[in-house]
Amino acid sequence: MTARTTAPTVRTALVIGGGIAGLVAAMALRKAGIEARVYEAYDGSGPRSGAGGSRFGGGMTIAPNGQQALEAIDAAETVSAIGTPVTALGLRSWTGRHLAQLTAPADLPTTRFVWRTELHEAIAAEAESRSIPVHRGKRLLDATDTGTGVTARFSDGSQERADILIGADGLRSTVRRLIDPTAPKPHYAGTLTFTARVPKTELPSTEGVLYMCYGKRAYFAYQIFDDATAAWSANLPHREPMTAAEAQAVGAGEWLKRLAEAFTDDRTPAPELLAETPPEDLLIPGPTETMPPVETWSRGRMILIGDAAHATSPTSGQGASLATESAVELARCLRDLPVGKAFKAYESLRRPRVDRILKHTTATATATSAAARTATPKPAGPLSRALRDALLPVATKVGGAGGAVWGAWQFEHRIDWDERAM
Ligand SMILES: Cc1cc2nc3c(=O)[nH]c(=O)nc-3n(C[C@H](O)[C@H](O)[C@H](O)COP(=O)(O)OP(=O)(O)OC[C@H]3O[C@@H](n4cnc5c(N)ncnc54)[C@H](O)[C@@H]3O)c2cc1C
Repeated sequence: MTARTTAPTVRTALVIGGGIAGLVAAMALRKAGIEARVYEAYDGSGPRSGAGGSRFGGGMTIAPNGQQALEAIDAAETVSAIGTPVTALGLRSWTGRHLAQLTAPADLPTTRFVWRTELHEAIAAEAESRSIPVHRGKRLLDATDTGTGVTARFSDGSQERADILIGADGLRSTVRRLIDPTAPKPHYAGTLTFTARVPKTELPSTEGVLYMCYGKRAYFAYQIFDDATAAWSANLPHREPMTAAEAQAVGAGEWLKRLAEAFTDDRTPAPELLAETPPEDLLIPGPTETMPPVETWSRGRMILIGDAAHATSPTSGQGASLATESAVELARCLRDLPVGKAFKAYESLRRPRVDRILKHTTATATATSAAARTATPKPAGPLSRALRDALLPVATKVGGAGGAVWGAWQFEHRIDWDERAM
């Protein structure tokens, strides 16, 4: 069935948060005939910091499903123009043993590695070219649903009103709390995250393979590109939680030293890549966090998308792609249905898929590490390490990953923009 041609009943939307979810939502709403304005807390000045949101640097992957969602709003080029292909996922143990290699499905767009800041700039430029108003330095504090619209109040004392309000304000969402004051908060997962761009490495290119290494004491992922640059990220166990600011205050040089110690026994490229990382290229996002399921996504005229609704573990490689899918689906529902029905339709379209991916992430973590029972890889004890290394090649061949094909059902998801939402 094709999209209806009458005008949407929702005419205007306030989008809180100018990360990937917020900017994509605003573009999708515009395509649906709804006027959307974005309000972003960050004013564009000062150091980039935070727990891995769009403002923070480092690398990330955009999966085929995320690219297909961008395609639905004619914005796939934002990723394809800047991303480096990732054709396979390799899993290695600390002994250097190759445990498994999962290849990408051949008939889908290739997963792309992108630098987070470049992705954000590309999407922001695309939104600007479509004349989407993005107001920076606007931190939402509170909002009132009057039954016919929502009034939002910002920390600079200003107010804005529209038919609906969309919370795209990330892991520590204010809108989530406004919708449900008892909503869960993220939990510290027991490790600190570090990530870096290596400007020049002597190591050979991994030829499109992104490696995840289950180190003796910490987790390490890396990819080495054809131009002799590399990207890596590490999760280092740390008993006490630290905020990003506290971790940054320790200093990049000191963390590189501690990371080198943690990986000293590993027979993977971790020690060499760490040695090649200039302190100024080390990014310190701070605590690795997991988010319990958010039971309530909407109330009245307010609704959540992206990490505010369904944050996955950083290592799942799906957070930004799921955020993009949700942004596009919500706009499609609002195009075709009145607000209450649109919110219901959106949730019934998104909830099963998001839950399945969250479960899968946990199941994969369980299969790949007997010790790491959370979604974030943690170091394992000697027995757990031996078990994991023996089981992992089997698990990836026959298990939830859909055989030795990387992504499988997660990657295949495609949104038909022209189909009417019901
Ligand atoms: C270390 C790490 C690695 C990751 N790697 C990957 C990966 O490889 N692939 C992948 O797909 N995902 C990855 N993710 C997850 C991905 O970053 C997120 O899923 C994605 O950024 C979510 O986008 P979002 O727009 O929902 O939230 P965000 O990117 O967090 O954006 C939210 C925005 O809202 C703003 N904001 C917050 N509060 C307010 C307020 N009160 N008022 C106004 N604005 C506000 C913030 O400043 C921010 O700009 C990773 C995450 C981490 C931490």
